[in-house]
Amino acid sequence: MEYYVRRRKRKLNYRHMLIAIIMIIIILLLIIFGVVAVQNHKAEKIRLEAQKKAEEEEIMRIAIETQKKEEEERQRQKEKEEEENATGIIYLTFDDGPSASSTPVILDILKNRGIKATFFVLHYSDENEQYIKKEKEEGHTIALHGYSHTYSEVYQSADTCIENFKKIGDQVYQTTGIQSKIIRFPGGSSNVISKKYCPGVMTELVTRVTDMGYRYFDWNVDSDDAGHAKTSQDIYNNVTSGIKPGRSNVVLMHDFAGNHKTMDALDSVITWGLEQGYVFRRITEETPMVKHHVNN
Ligand SMILES: [Zn+2]
Repeated sequence: MEYYVRRRKRKLNYRHMLIAIIMIIIILLLIIFGVVAVQNHKAEKIRLEAQKKAEEEEIMRIAIETQKKEEEERQRQKEKEEEENATGIIYLTFDDGPSASSTPVILDILKNRGIKATFFVLHYSDENEQYIKKEKEEGHTIALHGYSHTYSEVYQSADTCIENFKKIGDQVYQTTGIQSKIIRFPGGSSNVISKKYCPGVMTELVTRVTDMGYRYFDWNVDSDDAGHAKTSQDIYNNVTSGIKPGRSNVVLMHDFAGNHKTMDALDSVITWGLEQGYVFRRITEETPMVKHHVNN
């Protein structure tokens, strides 16, 4: 009898222990599930918040971009109206720079008068790189004239001339991040000096550079500051007599070293232009090309 009671008691103890163990396991599982659920909830909340933030930022970005585009469009419209009401357009262009003695002086005059111009640049030293950066910062167009200006090198063939544009294009890109597509041939597209080195080269070049996406600009007003003009008065006379109403006037000038006559004439030329009702613009890829007759 006692044996049976003991056995029953032991059996009861085992059952209790088993129930206790099962309960503990259930409680542990509940705790684990609980913790995981809380963690998941937190992670989801963080994810949703990040998503919301990203969406808000995107909306903001689009709004800023739209505003910027609208502002640009308004500016373009305003400039177009000004051009339509103007006597004509003047594009001041400066070749053969940059130089430490001329470029900063010219830049300061342009800045002072609130006028944008175009610089057709040649290969420059590390010291002169600052002027290219300044031209960009102050809103001018940096265009390509050539790595070299030496006709015998440039016009050996169409390939050497194209390579000459590519090399200066690379240097400008390194300095400014701008891939300029606006070019001016050394001597202009009408030059005959290239005939000495490669007959027919200009005829080949004008087609090839255009096919490559370049836009080349000659000029229809020559200040003659690289030629016969000796004084600032000569420059003033050449420019003001060359500019014609009702058209795009592309004025050839130079910012090579020590070109004082041009620096000295520039402010008066601008005053004259404004008084006559002209607007001053920089050349862009949208500007209609002003081209010479090709003679080689
Ligand atoms: Zn030149």
